[in-house]
Amino acid sequence: MGDNKFRIAIIGGGLAGATLANALFRIPYLDAHVYESSATFSERGAAVGLSANAQQALEMIIVPSSKELLERAGAVPMNSSRAVLGSGPEAGTIIIDLAGHGDPGVVVHRAALLRELLAPLPPDLLHANKKLNSLVQEEDGLYQVRFEDGTVERFDAVIGADGIFGSVRSFVLGDAAAAAAAEHGPSPAGFWDCRVLVPFDKAKATLGEQYFDVHRQYGWVGDGAFIMHDILDAGTTVQCVVSAVEKDAPRDRKRPLTLESLTKSLRTWLDGPIAKGVIDVSFSLVLDQADPQGYSQWEHKSTPTYANGRVCIIGDAAHATSPWQGAGAGQAFEDALILGFLLGNDHVKRRADIEAAFKAFDVVRRPRCQQVIDSSRGTGAIMCGQNPDVGLDPARVRAAFAGRWSFIFSLDLDEYRQDALKKMREFLGQ
Ligand SMILES: Cc1cc2nc3c(=O)[nH]c(=O)nc-3n(C[C@H](O)[C@H](O)[C@H](O)COP(=O)(O)OP(=O)(O)OC[C@H]3O[C@@H](n4cnc5c(N)ncnc54)[C@H](O)[C@@H]3O)c2cc1C
Repeated sequence: MGDNKFRIAIIGGGLAGATLANALFRIPYLDAHVYESSATFSERGAAVGLSANAQQALEMIIVPSSKELLERAGAVPMNSSRAVLGSGPEAGTIIIDLAGHGDPGVVVHRAALLRELLAPLPPDLLHANKKLNSLVQEEDGLYQVRFEDGTVERFDAVIGADGIFGSVRSFVLGDAAAAAAAEHGPSPAGFWDCRVLVPFDKAKATLGEQYFDVHRQYGWVGDGAFIMHDILDAGTTVQCVVSAVEKDAPRDRKRPLTLESLTKSLRTWLDGPIAKGVIDVSFSLVLDQADPQGYSQWEHKSTPTYANGRVCIIGDAAHATSPWQGAGAGQAFEDALILGFLLGNDHVKRRADIEAAFKAFDVVRRPRCQQVIDSSRGTGAIMCGQNPDVGLDPARVRAAFAGRWSFIFSLDLDEYRQDALKKMREFLGQ
């Protein structure tokens, strides 16, 4: 324990790693560093929606408050998130308005959110250009991390926040992963999507003023596909997303998009009086970018454990999910909240306490995150008209949506932290 502090490596500086670093860096007996493989800490991609639980977890982590952080990142409240039927005889029927269901969500540009999450962290804790190459436990119990640049460091504990294709996961799963690589590795969720950001005025002019009277997220639910548009960057940008069912997942996880391929994916939508306009505009927005691609959505269908000794995994490294319930980042924030609580508050005096904390983390987090993954895939099926019991009948879609988000929003995070602590104490025989 260097300088009488426990040294912790956080591998990966995405939303999960950066949020965890916020939860750990003020704990006086920890020396937690973030190692990011890229040359800069950066987020690609468009917006991320943060629902009530995600914001609450962040608020419990960020000192003094996450409200200003989200404001600086340009987060925009989702006054409502509205799902409308996009194809079939009932095209245009409003199915649900999530504003009426108790989720005061916000939408924020990913890069801006990451920038603001990194801002409070002491720069000497952040290490870019540090790609983890190997992880081994030494005889004295320390973990040796070898980076691609040839440097080697030793840690009391390692936390993998290295994303869906990260390598800390294989260390944590050990033999179980090797024995069941297909079962526990990342796999296609059955959908692809393409996201594009356009200036607000352009989107308003092309999609139509009627969609921008309030900051509202629109989701068009239809046969084999789903179209969404929402507002971000403090109201200056609009994100447009086209998603569709994926039958054969390409090996490189992406496919070039053309007018022909988009038209094929949404062929049954084209007769609808309302959806036709949305489709035409969405196509033109999506195709009006260099090299438009549809990216396969991947997920973890099962994970036997999130912890192995004093190594654990968080965020997408542990529980990557399809994006249908907008919950992945929120789950990463909950991970950071629980780990920050278990490792802080004078709960850790010996290395064995860290191991117990990681085991407790696994016990409380894994069932919840797996539920999110499974529910999200099922939600995608409903949104793309693929659930045979629901189809595109407005009343059935409405009924199928009802309550799908409440298990995500309604968790009492204070109680949840206490449950995790109780588990940690049980593992320590206390
Ligand atoms: C299309 C899409 C839409 C989404 N929409 C939402 C939404 O609306 N709401 C929501 O809550 N969630 C959403 N999510 C999920 C959310 O974006 C993710 O759950 C979240 O960004 C995961 O963050 P992460 O830090 O775990 O992983 P990542 O963002 O993948 O970060 C991992 C980091 O680790 C680094 N790394 C990888 N390997 C190494 C290595 N060997 N050494 C060092 N560093 C390494 C990478 O460079 C990267 O910076 C969406 C996801 C997708 C794909």
